[in-house]
Amino acid sequence: MHIMAQETVWDEAGSPSLKSYTISNYKQLPQVQALSEEVRFEMDVVASVLPFKTNNYVVEQLIDWDRVPDDPMYVLTFPQKNMLKKRHFDQVAQMIKNETPKEEMDKKINDVRMELNPHPAGQLELNVPSLKDGTKLYGMQHKYNETCLFFPSQSQTCHAYCTFCFRWPQFVGMDDMKFAMREGEQLAQYIGEHPEISDVLFTGGDPMIMKAKMFRTYVDTLIDAKLPNLTTIRIGTKMLSYWPYKVLSDDDAAETLDTFRHISDSGLHLSIMGHFNHPVELSTDAVKSAIRKIRATGAQIRTQSPLLSHINDDADAWVRMWTQQVRLGCIPYYMFIVRDTGAQHYFGMSLARAYEIFTSAYRRVSGLARTVKGPSMSATPGKVLINGIPEIGGKKLFSLRFLQGRNPEWVGRPFYAEYDEKAIWLDDLKPAFGGRFFYEEELEARYSGARQLKKD
Ligand SMILES: *Cc1c(COP(=O)(O)O)cnc(C)c1O
Ligand code: SF4
Repeated sequence: MHIMAQETVWDEAGSPSLKSYTISNYKQLPQVQALSEEVRFEMDVVASVLPFKTNNYVVEQLIDWDRVPDDPMYVLTFPQKNMLKKRHFDQVAQMIKNETPKEEMDKKINDVRMELNPHPAGQLELNVPSLKDGTKLYGMQHKYNETCLFFPSQSQTCHAYCTFCFRWPQFVGMDDMKFAMREGEQLAQYIGEHPEISDVLFTGGDPMIMKAKMFRTYVDTLIDAKLPNLTTIRIGTKMLSYWPYKVLSDDDAAETLDTFRHISDSGLHLSIMGHFNHPVELSTDAVKSAIRKIRATGAQIRTQSPLLSHINDDADAWVRMWTQQVRLGCIPYYMFIVRDTGAQHYFGMSLARAYEIFTSAYRRVSGLARTVKGPSMSATPGKVLINGIPEIGGKKLFSLRFLQGRNPEWVGRPFYAEYDEKAIWLDDLKPAFGGRFFYEEELEARYSGARQLKKD
């Protein structure tokens, strides 16, 4: 007595509608029904702790079900047993089997979540800006001088969830973000008060979840404020991978593209920060056509992704990604190291291996793809690039450099850590020549009292 999901029509004439699958309905998928009972139970366990959402485009167009469970797009959106540590998995599995009452279960699940470092890099405490009149702006972050992040209240979800996402606490309702009524005006006011800001980055979730009308309102507010310091609007989005129909055939596709054009026509640069994790995301007619339409509005598309075990941990995948991005007119921008939160133990890899994969891919692509910067860690003091693994005076070292720093003076300054084959994050590293890293004392002084600094 199974309800089966309908297959979507994807041909060119069609205008497919988005169908989401979450823990409550994913068993309707025929592809999932073909999996074993045990695998479905494992998904139920993991999805009780970490967010789970996929959709019909990902399931029907991107996942190669013949390759499941190893298929990268499957791993990217479907929960896998090992995304929880064994101890956590067993604990939650047992509660489900015992039909533990909801209240007790919720409490235990929350305990598990708290053990997954839900707020790495001091996200909550360190980056909340305020207006000159003292109003706190919870829908914004301002960590690096030039760029402020804006989280519109309408974009707190995505077309599907990435299993590695560091914003997972937001999607399971741990972070109750308090939004202002007049966010758009406050954003414009803040940028006006901070002449050092040149870029505003719309982020979320995925801002392209937002209806075009709402997005247009924010954009108009920014443009109408005639802020002399503002040069660029960026949109951090995964719609090109998860739902390219947002600019092809959705009801508000034309209006979305119109708004992009309006930004360019107003004399600002629009940079779409497209999030791609695997070459297959760049392979469908839909994504190619979406990229063409966006570029025709005057926008540039820059690309970024973390390096992920089980998904893209080989140089070949990156060569194919960067090459295809250049072919489609996109600009490779960042390769990140996966953050110290959630399922990092599953997706992470040693810094040494990350550097090796980056370098061997970088050596095999045209200079036009070497616009990419990485591998980089977004840590509490800033974005730290692994610049090389040199041997200096007979000693093997990590050579590191800030791409962004809480203090701009830190940017570009090389520093060295002892080589450690097992290190996976900045806090695993020790200064190469004793003492402390040059920024540590200042970081502590600037943010004394803030929680978690030692850890991050
Ligand atoms: C990466 C990042 C930015 C943007 O940095 P760019 O190097 O200009 O792309 C801004 N804010 C935060 C918090 C970031 O992590
Ligand atoms: S699209 Fe971005 S914000 Fe959304 S789940 Fe993926 S990584 Fe997280």
